[in-house]
Amino acid sequence: MAPTYLKQATKTAMTDAGDVHETVQKILNDIEAGGDDTARAYANRFDQYGGNILLTGDDIRAACALVPEKLKADIRFAHDNVRRFAEAQKQTMHDIEYEVVPGLVAGQKAIPVRAAGCYVPGGRYSHIASAIMTVTTAKVAGCKHIVACSPPRPNEGVAPAIIYAAQLCGADRIMAMGGVQGVAAMTFGLFGLPRADILVGPGNQFVAEAKRILFGRVGIDMIAGPTDSLILADDTADPEVVATDLVSQAEHGYNSPVWLVTSDRALAETVLSRVPELIADLPELNRANAEAAWRDYAEVILCSDREEMAATSDTYAPEHLTVQARDLPWWLDRLQCYGSLFLGEETTVAFGDKASGTNHVLPTSRSAKYTGGLSVHKYMKIVTWQRSTREGARPVAEATARISRLEGMEGHARSADIRLRKYFPDESFD
Ligand code: NAD
Repeated sequence: MAPTYLKQATKTAMTDAGDVHETVQKILNDIEAGGDDTARAYANRFDQYGGNILLTGDDIRAACALVPEKLKADIRFAHDNVRRFAEAQKQTMHDIEYEVVPGLVAGQKAIPVRAAGCYVPGGRYSHIASAIMTVTTAKVAGCKHIVACSPPRPNEGVAPAIIYAAQLCGADRIMAMGGVQGVAAMTFGLFGLPRADILVGPGNQFVAEAKRILFGRVGIDMIAGPTDSLILADDTADPEVVATDLVSQAEHGYNSPVWLVTSDRALAETVLSRVPELIADLPELNRANAEAAWRDYAEVILCSDREEMAATSDTYAPEHLTVQARDLPWWLDRLQCYGSLFLGEETTVAFGDKASGTNHVLPTSRSAKYTGGLSVHKYMKIVTWQRSTREGARPVAEATARISRLEGMEGHARSADIRLRKYFPDESFD
């Protein structure tokens, strides 16, 4: 039996994608041609900001002084969890050395990229946690230069708590510039910044598209655009918790899809009636975002059993995936496509978003089909090396010469021949 849609979206992440591409491409072209002044002009136009682009030591100290002590302690707690988890992840990256043929040893090494550009979104909300997620992982990976950039509030500048978090976590430059212009400044090395080797961090559709277009000239972590979230719930789930968790993710933005996939019609119907009430109770900005996201992008899908629920979830490949159902180990084993998985009611996406240690920069728009989220691994280049004895080189050179000649690559073949003649002058090879 096919899943039944009790509520269907009228828009998807691809709605308006063409317009966004044109807009972003034009801004990037303008900034590449016009440099610092053009980037500054865009900052002025989009964020009504004319202050310092690169924050000075005094700017940073003044901002940090404005952050309440309790919030600083919470930021340190979150930073500590993210750092320790990232350090544990780094241990999984081993250099290796392997004797491929007797005498020829090949190896793998992980080298951190030199310069990381960390985007910290700040249009609708002050995404303090994104500064923690991006800068901390770059630091643990061992990047030498770490720039954090975030959009300034009109005539105010970057939120002080973002500045506090960025410097605590290890950013060596903090830039008050957001959107496409911020991404461009880090990529092109404007304002005296080192050119970024990799751009990381989440952002709205303009930021995500800028990273997509620039990929190749610069590395990117992934497409981490407007947030999406899916909850898998069976009849053991608490509909009030499910509805609250859906609303918590719909508040991200007007284009943040939330999906409920359930095997329990009664739960689905309770959630469908409860979500609008919970949204109505949010503060104004959050309400406007969540209302639009729920109206246009949300879906509620009824499945006949847990296998159908899991298969449906895998086709959505959600950024955040929550399971509120019996037999959590079965789900952990079965589910294949998600950015980050939250098993059971006792944890939730909001924990991962802010403070539980796993990274919140995650693949959106179904890119969890081919990638996971941000981790130290994204900043590391896995490179290989080799060395050989003369004996080890012999069978490889013989095979290389024959393969090269068959391919028509005589130059390659001669690189092999010269070694065979030099190391084994008394022998003949064909
Ligand atoms: P943002 O910092 O991403 O974007 C703000 C910038 O957008 C502004 O500085 C401005 O320059 C630019 N902009 C706005 N309108 C524009 C236009 N018409 N043309 C060109 N540029 C324009 O902040 P935001 O808008 O609040 O978005 C944050 C996003 O980050 C949300 O979509 C949220 O879901 C997402 N997010 C994703 C993850 C993830 O891991 N995938 C995590 C956290 C947040």
